[in-house]
Amino acid sequence: MSQTDSPYTGRFAPSPTGPLHIGSLIGALASFLDARANGGRWLLRMENIDPPREIAGADQRILSTLRRHGLLWDGDVLEQSSRHVAYNTALTELLNSGHAFYCSCSRRQLRERGGLHQGECAAAVDPGDCAIRLRVPDVTVTANDRLQPPLSQNLQTEVGDFTLKRRDGHYAYQLAVVVDDAFQNISHVVRGSDLWISTPRQQYLQSMLKFPAVSYLHFPVIVGDDGHKLSKQTFAAAVDDSRACENLLLALRFLNQPLPPPAQATSPTKILGWAVDHWQLAALPRVMGQPQSAFYNN
Ligand code: GLU
Repeated sequence: MSQTDSPYTGRFAPSPTGPLHIGSLIGALASFLDARANGGRWLLRMENIDPPREIAGADQRILSTLRRHGLLWDGDVLEQSSRHVAYNTALTELLNSGHAFYCSCSRRQLRERGGLHQGECAAAVDPGDCAIRLRVPDVTVTANDRLQPPLSQNLQTEVGDFTLKRRDGHYAYQLAVVVDDAFQNISHVVRGSDLWISTPRQQYLQSMLKFPAVSYLHFPVIVGDDGHKLSKQTFAAAVDDSRACENLLLALRFLNQPLPPPAQATSPTKILGWAVDHWQLAALPRVMGQPQSAFYNN
């Protein structure tokens, strides 16, 4: 089967809020290896929809780090900053079908209601200075995962009517990710477990927009020694591009994958080729929250 008619299309979707750290490199590697081991395509999407959180130049630095690590994607990078028309079209459809509504609730009002929006306001026309939310019914959505046990969430009591467009005019991650996974024909999402909790609402939004279902795999994210997820915003150390082989071996160790013999570990391309051939889904760690120091110290 040629790559173009492969039923597997995966992706890596970094936000340019800083350079890649070891946790995000692990995410890139896991999604790359799973795609290539399944004869699939691997696409890259720059999730630059949130300018206030972005760092100038981070997008180019991320691309350069991926290249230096041999993580070469198929086709052109999809920039979310160029996708506003598509997001707006999806929003209009949801507003017209009555699934989305304008919301002028203040943060304080939301806090007073326990942080959830549960059908309180429902403006069908824009009163100005509003967020747009998706109205969620009292249903339980169960997200299946290739690695984790099924995750069931009652959308109304556990999530609430969620934001599709923020009050400051920026499109929300949940809307953009669903619209773009469909646009890029993504069949398989492999990403860190911090986003597992978002999956039921993404699946619900996919069904509202009549998009095809996606298969998910959430691997446990690496955490700092303080127990929190490594994050670009909290300035987790950027990966050192001059140590690409070492970084890839470290990431493979974290993913509990077999390591190549030294003769096959002399370049990123060789390491990746070997790792694709030896990719073992069943070996992936399932336990959440392993501290990064455990991997640096052995
Ligand atoms: N842009 C998100 C991040 O950098 C990833 C989104 C996704 O994989 O769905 O954490």
